[in-house]
Amino acid sequence: MRKIYYFDNNATTPVAPEVVAAMTPYLSELWANPSSGYQFANRVAKDVESARAKVAALINADPREVVFTSCGTESINTVLHSAATISPQKRHIVTTSVEHSATLRCVEYLATQGYEVTLLPVNSEGALDLMELERSIRPDTAMVSIMWANNETGVIFPIPAVAEICRKKQVLFHSDAVQAAGKEQLDVRAVGLDCLSLSAHKLYAPKGIGMVYLNRGSRFRPLIRGGQQEGGRRGGTENVPGIIAFGAAAELAMNRLREENERVRALRDRLETALLKDIPGTARNGAAELRLANTSNLAFDSVEAEAVLIKLDQLGICASSGSACRTGSLEPSHVLKAMGFSASRARSSVRLSLGFYNTAEDVDYLAAELPGIIRKLRAL
Ligand code: PLP
Repeated sequence: MRKIYYFDNNATTPVAPEVVAAMTPYLSELWANPSSGYQFANRVAKDVESARAKVAALINADPREVVFTSCGTESINTVLHSAATISPQKRHIVTTSVEHSATLRCVEYLATQGYEVTLLPVNSEGALDLMELERSIRPDTAMVSIMWANNETGVIFPIPAVAEICRKKQVLFHSDAVQAAGKEQLDVRAVGLDCLSLSAHKLYAPKGIGMVYLNRGSRFRPLIRGGQQEGGRRGGTENVPGIIAFGAAAELAMNRLREENERVRALRDRLETALLKDIPGTARNGAAELRLANTSNLAFDSVEAEAVLIKLDQLGICASSGSACRTGSLEPSHVLKAMGFSASRARSSVRLSLGFYNTAEDVDYLAAELPGIIRKLRAL
C-alpha cells in the first residue's frame, strides 16, 4: 500500500501497536463475560478494573467514577439526558454554539421536549465570554455543557474558570473533553467538574469505546438500562477488548503527553509557519496560543476546501474541512460561522490535525505540495 500522510488525527487516530498488543488476548483466549461467576471470568473482570484504574488516572478520578460507554456521543447524550430528567423542574440548558454535533443534536432534541437551550456565542478567535456564561445561568438551569477543546479549530476553553462559575451558581457542569484527552492535562478533581466525556478512538485505541466520568457527589440517572454492569449506570455486556485498549491508551497518553505535546507543537508550528509564508491569502482560524498543540485550521482565499482535499487525497494526504461528520456536506462549518466568518471563508478552510505518528518528513511533504495545489486551483 502506498504511504499515507495522515493529517486528520482529530477525526480518529491509528491504533497504537502497544494498544493492539494489550487488547489482542481479549479477542482470542480471554473472551469470557466479566459478569460470569467462574474463575475464567473473574480474571477478565479483574483486568477490566485495572483498565478502569488507568483511564481514571488519566483524568485524576476515582476508578469508581468511570463508566464505560460505546463512544463520546453516547457519553454526551447520557449526561445531558440525565441532567434533563433528574430535576424535572429545571428546563434550561446552557452550551456553546461551537460544540460537536453530539451535543448540538442532543440539545436540539431536548428543545423539542420543552427544554430551553442557550447557545453561547464565541468571538472571532473562538473564545467564550465568561461574563455572558455567568449571566446565562438561571435558577432553572439543569446543566452547563462546554467542550474542553474544539475539534475543528483546536481552541481551548477556560474549563477551570467555567467550573468555578458553575460551582458558585450550583449548577451541574459537564465538559466534552473528547479532543483534549491525551493532548492536555485533565484533572477532574482539581477543576471540580460533575461529568466529563472521553472517546478512546481519539487516543490511539479503537472505535466503539468511550467513557463518562461521573463525580460521586453528583446525581445521575442512566440512559441505557439493562443489567447491573458499570454499577447499574450503563447496562450492556462490557466491550472487554475495547476497555482493555482504552486502559492501555490512557497509560500511553500519560507517559507520553508532555514530550509528545512539545514534539507535535513544533511540527504543527513548522507546518503552519511554512503555509502562511508560502501561500498568499492564507489565514489561521482560531486563537494562536490557547489552542491544542496538534491542530491548525487554515483558510485559503478563493478556493473551495473540498477541491483542496481531493487534490491532497490524490497525493496520499488525508485532511479534512472540519468535523468528519460534516465532510461531504455543502453546509459551511457551524464553528467557523459562529466565529463570525463568512460562508465563503468557512468553505475555504482546511483542518490539519497531527498526532503521534507524524514526522518532519510528513510535514515537509505537505508544506511542499500545498502551495502548488492552491496556486493551480486559484488559476482555474
Ligand atoms: N466531541 C468531540 C469534540 C469530538 O471531536 C467527537 C468526535 O469527533 C465527539 C464528541 C464524538 O465522539 P465519538 O466519535 O466517540 O462519538
